[in-house]
Amino acid sequence: MSAVTAADAAAPAAPPPRRPVAVRARGARVWDERGREYIDGSSGAVCVNLGHGVPEVLDAMRAQAERITFVHRSQFAHHAVQDLSAEILSIAGPGHREVVYTNSGSEATETALRLALHHHAADPARAVVLTQFPSYHGMTAGALGVSGHPPRRRHLDALHDGSATTVPVASGDPGRLLPGLADWRAAFARTGPERVAAVLLEPVGGAASGACEVPDEVLRGLRDLCDASGALLAVDEVMTGFGRTGWWFGHSRSGVTPDLVVTGKGLSAGYTPIGACLVGDRVLPNRPATDLAFGHTMGGNPLSAATALAVLAYTREHDLPGRAERAGAVLREGLAETAASVPFLGAPRGRGLLLALPVHQDAEGFARAPLAARICAAAERNGLIVYPAGVDHRYQAVLVTPPLTVDDADLRELLARLRAAVAEVDA
Ligand code: PLP
Repeated sequence: MSAVTAADAAAPAAPPPRRPVAVRARGARVWDERGREYIDGSSGAVCVNLGHGVPEVLDAMRAQAERITFVHRSQFAHHAVQDLSAEILSIAGPGHREVVYTNSGSEATETALRLALHHHAADPARAVVLTQFPSYHGMTAGALGVSGHPPRRRHLDALHDGSATTVPVASGDPGRLLPGLADWRAAFARTGPERVAAVLLEPVGGAASGACEVPDEVLRGLRDLCDASGALLAVDEVMTGFGRTGWWFGHSRSGVTPDLVVTGKGLSAGYTPIGACLVGDRVLPNRPATDLAFGHTMGGNPLSAATALAVLAYTREHDLPGRAERAGAVLREGLAETAASVPFLGAPRGRGLLLALPVHQDAEGFARAPLAARICAAAERNGLIVYPAGVDHRYQAVLVTPPLTVDDADLRELLARLRAAVAEVDA
């Protein structure tokens, strides 16, 4: 997620607020140039999974930088890149065979979209990508073009001709925030199953839905729908990947093997830019995906690869998925208490340390001044960084996503500052 701002939520966009100037960060804390200390309750843009300034990662970066920072993959192979691919594929498990590197999650989404279309090249009518409403898959034109995020998609529709279709909740269940299997089945039927190139979805939403979860049975049902129709199943794990949800991937618990896995953020935990698209065995089975023209100049450069390797080694060694699950349970309890203290917050949702407090506000109030953004602004005044999320008033939420290494003292302080912020808004 790039920063979710009040301007995303409300139209027309407001001028960006002045930001404090950050000068130092350690663990789950950031300091600005005036000496103010903040708890990083958002892990930057939900990417600083290890916390700031982890010595093992900094040492690996320094060592790699001193050896070699850049070679281009058309001229040289590199051990860090090879080792990283082996590590990612071992984490992902059977069913995946290759990794294509990018510099960001958005580019990894673009890679998945291109691979899906290449895969179906012999059948050009199969060109529709189904995504859920709401969703966010990146800022580039293709990735945003398939995102169910109207405030960010504004002005982009001219570039797209119906080849991306977002699937809303239409099944008449008033409590449901994300499409269920009946909605997906209806979307396949409406589109014509023979025209669906791929389904792309986030297992737990971030910027767009504020941590709404896709139930495991929906993921399994989608796998079946894709298999029956010949479409590929792509999961966007940019925010959920590498431990954030208490599992290595957001889809892991479901037992489903996707054809394409889009990653970014947690792969390097914010230490360097990198993204990656994992390619499943069934995608383009007769040729390496890297044969296609996927060549971001910096994609998978040795420095980013060595950094990501150190991040993944740390994640394994310190069982960060397990820590996310345990810390998430403590945080969820504290968030539930905070929510119970005011009428405008709902019970926390999400998984692991990808949690959100839903904010109740009508559409008119949301359009005028989104309450989640006000809570986040009050949090910042109280020394806590958290994000507002949600494409509209139904999904509006405060995302609470500290580093997976957050300790009990950090969590207590985070909750105290959040409660102070909520009380300020309630006053
Ligand atoms: N997909 C998801 C689910 C995201 O949350 C984001 C970023 O927030 C992206 C894709 C885009 O990643 P990036 O900002 O690295 O381009």
